[in-house]
Amino acid sequence: MLILDNSGCRLSRRFIDPHEVDSEINRLKSAIQATSDQIAQDRDSVTREIGEEYGHIFGAHLSILTDKKLLRDLEEPIRQHNYSAEYAVTEVFDRQADMLRRVAGTLYSERANDVVDIKVRLLRQLMGVHQNSLAHLDRPVILLAASLTPSETSNLDRDNVLGFATEEGARGSHTAIVASALQIPAVLGIGRFLADVQEGDRVILDGDKGLLILNPDAETTRKYQQIIDRQKSVSQRLFSRSSAPAITQDGTEIQVFGNIEYHYESRICDINGAAGIGLYRTEFLYLGADLASLPTEEDHFQAYRTVIEAMGPNRVTTIRTFDLGADKLPSGLTTEIVEANPFMGVRSIRLSLKYQDMFRKQLRAILRASAFGPIRIMFPLVSTILEFRNAKSIFLDVCEELDEAGVPFDHSIPIGMMLEVPASIIMIHTFVKEVDFFSIGTNDLTQYSLAVDRGNKGVDFLYNSEDPAILQLVHRAIQVATMYDKPISICGQISSDPNNTMLLIGLGLRHFSVAPGVIPVIKDLCRNVTVKECEEVAKKALFMETARDIRNYLRLETDKKLGTGWTAEE
Ligand code: PEP
Ligand code: MG
Repeated sequence: MLILDNSGCRLSRRFIDPHEVDSEINRLKSAIQATSDQIAQDRDSVTREIGEEYGHIFGAHLSILTDKKLLRDLEEPIRQHNYSAEYAVTEVFDRQADMLRRVAGTLYSERANDVVDIKVRLLRQLMGVHQNSLAHLDRPVILLAASLTPSETSNLDRDNVLGFATEEGARGSHTAIVASALQIPAVLGIGRFLADVQEGDRVILDGDKGLLILNPDAETTRKYQQIIDRQKSVSQRLFSRSSAPAITQDGTEIQVFGNIEYHYESRICDINGAAGIGLYRTEFLYLGADLASLPTEEDHFQAYRTVIEAMGPNRVTTIRTFDLGADKLPSGLTTEIVEANPFMGVRSIRLSLKYQDMFRKQLRAILRASAFGPIRIMFPLVSTILEFRNAKSIFLDVCEELDEAGVPFDHSIPIGMMLEVPASIIMIHTFVKEVDFFSIGTNDLTQYSLAVDRGNKGVDFLYNSEDPAILQLVHRAIQVATMYDKPISICGQISSDPNNTMLLIGLGLRHFSVAPGVIPVIKDLCRNVTVKECEEVAKKALFMETARDIRNYLRLETDKKLGTGWTAEE
């Protein structure tokens, strides 16, 4: 088990042996001395280079850290409770920061940030600078953390992180989506629990039910071992038929595509029998990059070409132009774009239209890659027809540029858009005239329709893509697109849950895009149903009044069909 505190530092040991108290205090004193020396150096070089008023900031840090009372406060829990130095530092500094935050006024909240800053420096000193790297671990761990960003999650050591649980975050967040793409079991937004665990505790992480069980008894451990064995054998059985088409019992083919974030996931889609890539979240190329290392046109091109070649000449790759902004910002842009309401702000297609050089660079790479296999281009978060037209006219301009330069590309690439803002579904009758295809993004559609922040645990109970209001919007989108003969698919997380497959077929969808790991189970389910019975299920669900009723009903109907023991018993 690996435990991180709320500043991302590892807390490996909470207690020491009583005979270690004196040496622990000496270790703490040396760390304070070394940290003070570092801060003094920073103060001097900042004063020299940009002026005394900035150097004062570090001077203030230095006087906090060398305060005699602070040392007494830190020594006390080590002596009284045998806390490790790291744990004492976390406790004392967090308490101080909390107190400062409770006092109104920006001066005090800045002081609280100073305290956190010093804490992190001191912890790094105590633990060594390399302690933070989660990309290369030396053993398999379950990671327990206050929070993880999407880019931190994408950089986890996938061979050694068996799963993770966080205090903050929520099911609909991009962190949860990345975890699911990387097939890392995750439970997000548990609330405060880090104070109750320590290195050496045994835990069971149940990503299906969203549970973290601390120090389970023998009976619980035995039950979970049985579930793991059963799931392994079901996976093997489903995997053996994953490349066969998904044809319902009454003869309708359902095409199951894969959602990917990284080019290498196209291999998993291929092995799992995907009909193509239904959503390539290209913004993940940027995450973790700073302004100096933003992806070049060549980086884009190589990534797209890898995916297109993995899909071969008969399976399409749907490339969504970058959906940056809000919780997905390269670190270089975090200082440029500071917004009170980032999910309502310069996000997604709006960011592409604002930073057109970045957008054009991506479009050039996509066009160049189109010479290697079939692709479609999809714009995210389109709210109005003018936005779609603007984005498309930039695309046509880039096409002209490449033509003039004699660069080969596919001249008949379909241009589609996500339906993830309620306004775009309300106005879909105008979009159908200009858009080549649609993909419904229920993750954002749920957030914007129900006014629920998808990453906020406090309102997570309201965040249900099976909410009756969302089903009405999805139903309308499918009806209008079908009436105008426009291809329509769905790529929000709703389609990655097998419990929703019958509903979505019944609503009229014949194309789904899902997390790569669930493609075999969804295809298997499609083979076990008739379109007619799915239509009955959808009809009943559309009349229900609450998300809970809809979910319970769909689970019952799916259990009748799956009968595989895929999900854990209640
Ligand atoms: C969606 O909003 O449903 C979607 C697929 O986009 P993302 O999850 O990347 O915001
Ligand atoms: Mg979205």
